[in-house]
Amino acid sequence: MIKNAIIKISDDEYYDDAQLLVRSFFVDADIIREGGKSSDVEVFKEGSSHFEVKSENTIHIDADRYVPVEIEASGTRGEKHDFFKRNLYTELVHITGKTLPWGFLTGVRPAKRATEMIKRGGMISPQKVKDEFSKKYMMSPEKANLALEVALNERRVLSEKGICAEPVDYNGFSVYVGIPFCPSTCLYCSFPSAPITSCGEELVEAYIESLLTEIKIGREIYERHLKKKGLQYIPLKPSSVYIGGGTPTSLTPGQLERILRCLKENFAMGDDIEFCAEAGRPDSIDNEKLYTLKENGVNRISVNPQTMNQKTLDILGRAHTTEDVYRAFELARKTGFNNINTDIILGLPEEGEAEVEKTVNEIKILSPDSLTVHSLAIKRASRLKINARDYSDMSRENSEKLIAMTSQLARDMDMLPYYMYRQQNMAGNFENTGYAKPGKESVYNIVIMEEVQDILAFGAGASSKFLMGNNRFERAVNVKDIRNYTDRTDEMIARKELLLSGK
Ligand code: SF4
Repeated sequence: MIKNAIIKISDDEYYDDAQLLVRSFFVDADIIREGGKSSDVEVFKEGSSHFEVKSENTIHIDADRYVPVEIEASGTRGEKHDFFKRNLYTELVHITGKTLPWGFLTGVRPAKRATEMIKRGGMISPQKVKDEFSKKYMMSPEKANLALEVALNERRVLSEKGICAEPVDYNGFSVYVGIPFCPSTCLYCSFPSAPITSCGEELVEAYIESLLTEIKIGREIYERHLKKKGLQYIPLKPSSVYIGGGTPTSLTPGQLERILRCLKENFAMGDDIEFCAEAGRPDSIDNEKLYTLKENGVNRISVNPQTMNQKTLDILGRAHTTEDVYRAFELARKTGFNNINTDIILGLPEEGEAEVEKTVNEIKILSPDSLTVHSLAIKRASRLKINARDYSDMSRENSEKLIAMTSQLARDMDMLPYYMYRQQNMAGNFENTGYAKPGKESVYNIVIMEEVQDILAFGAGASSKFLMGNNRFERAVNVKDIRNYTDRTDEMIARKELLLSGK
């Protein structure tokens, strides 16, 4: 295993490209930057950068080998970066003998690139887009196919919902509400969330009060912004509302009801809009909460086992059983939910083909309406990263074969891929893909990925983004810490005001 990958680079602009690609090849290595800024690095020739991998115990790489990577002097910024990445990727393939499923495409939204090609190409055939995608980014034909399929399905869903696929001057908005509480903290979690019991009733109540205030005043600010733009969207009707976190169903039915009521009082929440609440942890779900959601207009929920292997659930600290997942599904169906999503994760500790096969078989029995397949990404804030040594003996596996098993599962359940994103430090450098039965797609998942609408976001860690003209989105980001959020709610509101008033 490679322990250290050392990057020396003469042009700062390409450091992020180098770092991302090197990280993709050497997932467990520490990436070290040597030499500082370009002015400190005089040994390098002008017009080229240098990449070096030092390994303590590998036979593939010489200890002091430099890999020169050319930088193109002409072309657009994007072309220059692609040129650099292509050269570095080719070198890394040569050194390691490995290729990456996505080639040198490092961005988080591969489908967006496919969409751009479709737009640029006019009547260009799907085959041509796929061919160009594989040729341009050196990605596998399967991934080129997936990116194209997702791009086409995204466009179909947006058009069915009456949302323009190209950002225009104003394209409507969606609402996000963050509830940063969970029954316990999962091993891989990096979200702004805390175990609800350790927060104490007082903090939970203070949080809800802050949230209700932010929703009410935030809505007024947004309404003024639209009026100023000459738009009369009153009462304000979002395309979708998403209550996530965290696990919203960690709250009591009464607390949930106050939040849902506040949303209904501030926005026009007709039956035709998508209203989704995460009920991710089966141990947080009961009859009363499900009825509260349903009666207040929630029409899509997410029940997330992540795996159907009890041993893994215990390692992850999820504090629920696989039977709880069946129970939660049964309750949700009985309550009348006919749009249930399920998340699973590949690359979990101690999981290989046999474990994934068990999960796949049981998900088929649960028969959700949509499925999101994540590849585990190890984030800095997670216990899995912070206490990495405690888990270093545990295997982690993700592969094209496991990905293929889950995509087959989706097809067996008559689902199509409709949104996708990638993250850094993902097991196997794969992707997260959302599949759904036609008509059961979440438009929120698409608009958040493809940046086609304003997002009015409330709560700790929530990030609002607004189209400010010329296809440019700007963000107002809330603090992540729960106590900080409740103490500084006025400031979070002021951030939205400042951005939207243009002061
Ligand atoms: S359920 Fe989600 S938000 Fe809650 S601890 Fe687990 S990963 Fe984090």
